[in-house]
Amino acid sequence: MKKIVLITGGAGFIGSHLCDLFIGKGCGVICMDNLITGKVDNIRHLLKNRNFKFVKHDVSEKIGITGKIDYILHFASPASPIDYLKYPIQTLKVGSLGTHNALGLAKAKKAVFLLASTSEVYGDPLVNPQPETYWGNVNPIGPRGVYDEAKRFAEAITMAYHRYHKIGTRIVRIFNTYGERMRENDGRAIPNFLSQALANKPITVYGDGSQTRSFCYVSDLVDGVYRLLMSDVNNPVNIGNPNEMSLLKLAKIIIKITRSKSKIVYKALPVDDPKVRRPDITKAKSLLDWKPKVSLEEGLQATIDYFQRLILKSDRKR
Ligand code: UDP
Repeated sequence: MKKIVLITGGAGFIGSHLCDLFIGKGCGVICMDNLITGKVDNIRHLLKNRNFKFVKHDVSEKIGITGKIDYILHFASPASPIDYLKYPIQTLKVGSLGTHNALGLAKAKKAVFLLASTSEVYGDPLVNPQPETYWGNVNPIGPRGVYDEAKRFAEAITMAYHRYHKIGTRIVRIFNTYGERMRENDGRAIPNFLSQALANKPITVYGDGSQTRSFCYVSDLVDGVYRLLMSDVNNPVNIGNPNEMSLLKLAKIIIKITRSKSKIVYKALPVDDPKVRRPDITKAKSLLDWKPKVSLEEGLQATIDYFQRLILKSDRKR
């Protein structure tokens, strides 16, 4: 019997890559998205596939689906700082009510449930790299709190459903991820720097650029998510690339590989911007036999090709 997978946020950046992965494995895929940050363009190539179904729905409202579901991957949420500042209430709702609805559905369908959590549960970490055992340093009332606390609640309710209702659950803590289908204007560092560099416009480094991040290419990330789903690991697992660098260094790498004439300009650092971030992936390595394979240069090149195709497309429309 064909496995049926429900992907909430399936028209988003990571969600749409997961739709591709499960379609490629011969599963039936139900992609659910309210399209506030997701885009139909991300899944347009799948719309005619008879194993694929798109349902426009906000998962913070009750989810009604007839028929069997084997796996639920809960990826619906604004995920970029500018998005969750723009949609603070929706972000809190989808992490809390949306997760509750998706878990209720998993319980009713006896489906395995996987939560897309985040390195933001570690907040502005006082420990670097961050192992899963670190409890984090989060400001609950700051502007990022709407995302961080919603995801922390989502983890708590997922573990409660696992312990109390005995459903199979997985929690992936996703670190900074990039690749094709990120929105050029989604406000995150890589899309911003790439679109600025390709247009020879100033590269906006926030603060002095000494804050660090560790960037994982999307194909590595979805491979890790798949391995986790197929495992029996109920506790959270970090998935990310431990190649940590300062944002200033990232900006310089991007200027170099795009052969851009852009200059770097410094802007104010957003409130509560974490100073360091790097995943400890010991657990993913030992439990899932997973590690990232794609180098930053390869991943950036694929992302640059994608952004250039988008620019060509919008030029043709003009
Ligand atoms: N950042 C930056 N310039 C930009 C966008 C982001 O310097 O145009 C910085 C941001 O302040 C943060 C890092 O890049 O320190 C990563 O930000 P992003 O929004 O990609 O994700 P975050 O890791 O903060 O969730």
